[in-house]
Order: sequence, then C-alpha cells, then structure tokens
Amino acid sequence: MNDEQLLRYSRHILLSQIGIEGQEKLLAAHALVIGAGGLGSPVALYLASAGVGRITVCDGDDVDLTNLQRQIVHRTDAIGRKKVDSARATLAAINPEVRVIAVPERVGGERLDMLVADADVVVDGCDNFATRHAVNRACVKSRKPLVSGAAVRFDGQIAVFDLRDRGSPCYHCLFPEEGESEDVRCAVMGVFAPLVGIVGSIQAAEALKVLAGVGEPLAGRLLLLDALTMHMRTVKLQKDPACPVCSA
Ligand SMILES: [Zn+2]
Repeated sequence: MNDEQLLRYSRHILLSQIGIEGQEKLLAAHALVIGAGGLGSPVALYLASAGVGRITVCDGDDVDLTNLQRQIVHRTDAIGRKKVDSARATLAAINPEVRVIAVPERVGGERLDMLVADADVVVDGCDNFATRHAVNRACVKSRKPLVSGAAVRFDGQIAVFDLRDRGSPCYHCLFPEEGESEDVRCAVMGVFAPLVGIVGSIQAAEALKVLAGVGEPLAGRLLLLDALTMHMRTVKLQKDPACPVCSA
C-alpha cells in the first residue's frame, strides 16, 4: 500500500481484526454484485469505499424516477441511463482506485457461471426469484460464498451461504423454486427506503468479513428484520439432504 492508501483505509487498518493484512486482502479481491438497485446500491458503495479492488456490477435496467427514493447510488441526472453506468460513475467519484466492471444485462446461463467462477464473493441484491435461483446454482457449481438479501415493505432478510463448505445449505434448501411462483416486487408492494439501506449494508458487512476472513459470518443463518418494530432475529438454516441443487 502507498501512503495515500494507508490514509484512505486507516480506519480499517486500525481495527486489529482487519489491519494491513485484511485491507490487502480486500484490495486484491473481486466481488460480484447482482443488481444495482435498492440493495446493490449500499453494497456497491461500501465495497468501493472500503477498497475492494475489483467490483463487477450486473443490472439490465435503466435508472427511473421511482428508483431514487431508495437506490442511493443513483443521482437525479442519471435518469434514463443504464443503472450500471450510473453506479460506476458514483463509485469512481468515491474511490477512483477501485476497478468497476459494469455488465448492463440481467445475467444468466454461461455468462453468469463465468462471472461467478471469477469472483471471491457474490452478493445478490436482485429483485426476482429466477435470478436468485440462477445465482445460487452458479455459486453451488463454483463453490463460492453467496451473500443473499431481500427487502420488501418493512421486512428484510439476509443470509450467507458459504458454499466453499460442502456442509453448507444453499438458497434453494431454504426457498425451493417450486414454492414461490410469483415474485413479491417493490413495484407492487412498496418498500421502506432505509430498509434497503439496512439490509444492503449488512450484506456489505458480511461480504467484507468473508473477503478479509474476519469474525463469524452469517453462514447457515437467516437474519430476519422487521423495520416497523426494529426487531431482529436469526434462524438457523439446515441443509436439505434432498436439495436438487446442492445435494445432487
Ligand atoms: Zn441446497
């Protein structure tokens, strides 16, 4: 690290659990962020400000006026632009050292497999079950840690599936594809603006912990948050021995 980096990351370096060694791991890391919306915004902002060396952001949508209530990586003058381009511009202004790769599409198939295989951590902030399951399958295949988050109305949830560990449950163990036919989307249900900030910030924290090898990630646990009462609880997750994705 040069002198400027030592200053930029000094408040991380001061933490004994992170230190220079942990910060160097972050600088050398590659994070894949699925979605540049409500969750992807705080995720990308914190990963970039914290110095994760390479961040790939995938999202096929354009910035819309209705996004700005909660998708804090986008500015009003970005309306009509690709979300990933808008996000890249904001992240570059915060930390020009970080390399941001913008993928302006809803990724799936082989492209997704390749992006996941190249990442050290995958953070899912997408808004639909089809993509969530595709991301999970790719993470199981490449044995990559997956930090999953969801937020709708006043309800949030976060879980880490550390698929480097063969005993870990996967997203499908928890939410079988057959179970949910309809997406519960913000467009119809509404979402409390800071809720996505809380959930996305927790996802960013878990991703940084996984990358730096710090603390105890939320692996195999589901954190449930009710923003109306601000009650949080964690539920232990079990691997489904009959899961067609991770137990095949
Ligand atoms: Zn599974």
